[in-house]
Amino acid sequence: MANVIAAIDALTEIILANKEKLTELDAAIGDADHGINMARGFEAVHAKLATAGSDDIGGVLKMSGMTLISTVGGAAGPLYGTAFIRMAAAAQGKTTIDTETAEAMFEAAIGGIKERGKAVRGEKTMLDALEPAYEAFSQGMAEGEDLLRCLELATDAAGKGVEYTKTIIATKGRASYLGERSLGHQDAGATSTYLMLAALTAFAK
Ligand code: ADP
Ligand code: MG
Ligand code: MG
Repeated sequence: MANVIAAIDALTEIILANKEKLTELDAAIGDADHGINMARGFEAVHAKLATAGSDDIGGVLKMSGMTLISTVGGAAGPLYGTAFIRMAAAAQGKTTIDTETAEAMFEAAIGGIKERGKAVRGEKTMLDALEPAYEAFSQGMAEGEDLLRCLELATDAAGKGVEYTKTIIATKGRASYLGERSLGHQDAGATSTYLMLAALTAFAK
């Protein structure tokens, strides 16, 4: 994970590859723009990073977060943007991301999303993928697993979290307007979280 710009490019790639899918998921219980929003944001991040030339992990993450906030639009932009800015703070001064730093970044990201969005787990949001992922990561760490294995465990848990969002009613975000009619549909933001974790894991291999 030495090259944080390449890691973020891997996120951009998976978001662009799943732009239609994410938008379709959002069409079912939202306003059909999650993939479009995320693709716009990550394309802007990619363009910024291409000219930035900075290898400082904290700086790259902070710039990415600010770009997401200013370009994504919709609920997910400020939430993911805040996550990146908090991850930047957690990685400040680091030249590589070891397992401990990654755990701290994970925790910081979740804290930022919760503060900004006032949601908790079980409300059918990105947190339903991210929080179980973090727990699986931490558990893997406690069991002495390396960074790649911890990421694999986190990705698996996020995938299960996405499935879980099908079984619950949305109480935050646009999908909450549908009440019970949100049942049976998977959350778009939980799905983008899962996809980004999967991309990060593939990148770390
Ligand atoms: P919008 O709903 O404004 O169109 P997006 O479609 O880009 O924004 O993003 C929707 C996703 O944002 C949802 O699928 C959900 O995962 C996430 N989300 C919405 N509100 C919150 C919140 N308060 N906390 C955490 N995540 C949220
Ligand atoms: Mg939307
Ligand atoms: Mg919208």
